[in-house]
Amino acid sequence: MDKKIAIVSCEMFPLIKVGGLADVVGALYKKLNQYYQVSAFMPAFPQIKKSLKIEKISDFNIPFSTGKKETASFLKSIDAKYPNIYLIDNEHYFNRQHPYGENGIDYPDNLERFSFFCKGVLEACKINSLQFDIFHCHDWQTALLPLYLNEFYKDFNSKSIFTIHNLAYQGVFSKEKFPLLGLDWKYFNMKELEFYGNINLMKAGIIHSAITNTVSPTYAKEILTPEYGCGLEGLLSEKKEFVYGIINGIDYQIWNPMFDPFITKKYKTRKIKIENKKTLQKKLNLLVDEKIPLFGFVGRLVQQKGTDLIVEAIKNIIDKEKFQLVVLGTGEANYETQLKEIARKYPGNISITLQFNETFAHQIYAGSDFFLMPSRFEPCGLGQLISMKYGTIPIVRKTGGLTDTVKDFSQEDKNGWGIVFEEDNASELQKAIQRAIDLYTQQQDMELLFTNAKKQDFSWNQSIKQYWQLYQKALTL
Ligand code: ADP
Repeated sequence: MDKKIAIVSCEMFPLIKVGGLADVVGALYKKLNQYYQVSAFMPAFPQIKKSLKIEKISDFNIPFSTGKKETASFLKSIDAKYPNIYLIDNEHYFNRQHPYGENGIDYPDNLERFSFFCKGVLEACKINSLQFDIFHCHDWQTALLPLYLNEFYKDFNSKSIFTIHNLAYQGVFSKEKFPLLGLDWKYFNMKELEFYGNINLMKAGIIHSAITNTVSPTYAKEILTPEYGCGLEGLLSEKKEFVYGIINGIDYQIWNPMFDPFITKKYKTRKIKIENKKTLQKKLNLLVDEKIPLFGFVGRLVQQKGTDLIVEAIKNIIDKEKFQLVVLGTGEANYETQLKEIARKYPGNISITLQFNETFAHQIYAGSDFFLMPSRFEPCGLGQLISMKYGTIPIVRKTGGLTDTVKDFSQEDKNGWGIVFEEDNASELQKAIQRAIDLYTQQQDMELLFTNAKKQDFSWNQSIKQYWQLYQKALTL
């Protein structure tokens, strides 16, 4: 298929990363480009401008203006490593420290910023005669593009695909901002952008894209239910024959204990993996003892990730059992405080680092025996996929992408490569941790788990094929 695809996103590893979205989009761009010509459009965030060689193509005005600021610059990567990356620039909107907000508070003008971006992408394509068959948009920040495409750029004859990486973040804004979208008020009703009296940008992406997909088959089904649909289950159910689930992969060139430049000892075997555990214990002033099971957590410290369950389960078990816990993450202040408090009380057993630190994340994936992921919901989850490649046994709740990727280890047939529990409460997690501690005394079982986990293949190969099929499908609609 000789078709032109444009990825539209606010994150792309390694140029800019806030969370898993960056990993996924970075891998899509890189892997798809091995077979096809794929372009990408992003806001010109300063982090991206710093790491890319770029040239300016033109300045242009954005029509149906948002008010004072309406001039955009259209930039293009001239970096051989990153071909066909285009940036939409505007000092006021994008020259900020962070893509979405600071200190846990979203920027108040996010609706204008991302509406400006979506308009900018389409207008830049028009002015520069760039033609794409498919615009593949990611998350609510890009959700207006399918609507603008259908409303103002019909003659492009392009289709759009909207990928939901996390339905919980929908881009909801107050009704007063509606005029800033440059849309007729006819779009402010329940069948369109209205959501309980507010504006919901994600609705635009779901309604106006040819196909909506999310990042695992189980989550694609879950979001049709009230429990996981975050209020959009009705809308998604109406469109369900166009709602797909494609599991994320990970990039094994980046996440691979055989080549990982950030870890003490590259490894294939468990014996050498344990050297990384000892280094981690030493670095964090934990008791250096390979016999003590070490649990790792890397991720956002929020309710979704079950941070409260970790806090509670650990408190219940710490005086009874010998184990260690290493946490790397940032998030809600109350969780940060509670975790700090436990670490202060048990300095030899628990270590908390409240940072975003890519290098340290690699060392935790390599150095831990088990990886905790007791998520309340999980669109796909990357932590469990990474930890499996490092032979670090994931402990997960049976939800979303975790269901699709982790199989419980059974004592009987010795199948499986993780510990899976069902209910989202601390006592279930506590039991799962207890199971892990008991398993850890059975070194033969641990060897098997290590081998089984490492054998799982969540490279992008399969998923890229599925995305390509999705593009083909969209073109027939
Ligand atoms: P999310 O819901 O946050 O996108 P995922 O599991 O899909 O969760 O992806 C999270 C990604 O971000 C993983 O690559 C993980 O290693 C990384 N990550 C999360 N928090 C941190 C942190 N504090 N430091 C380094 N990497 C982090």
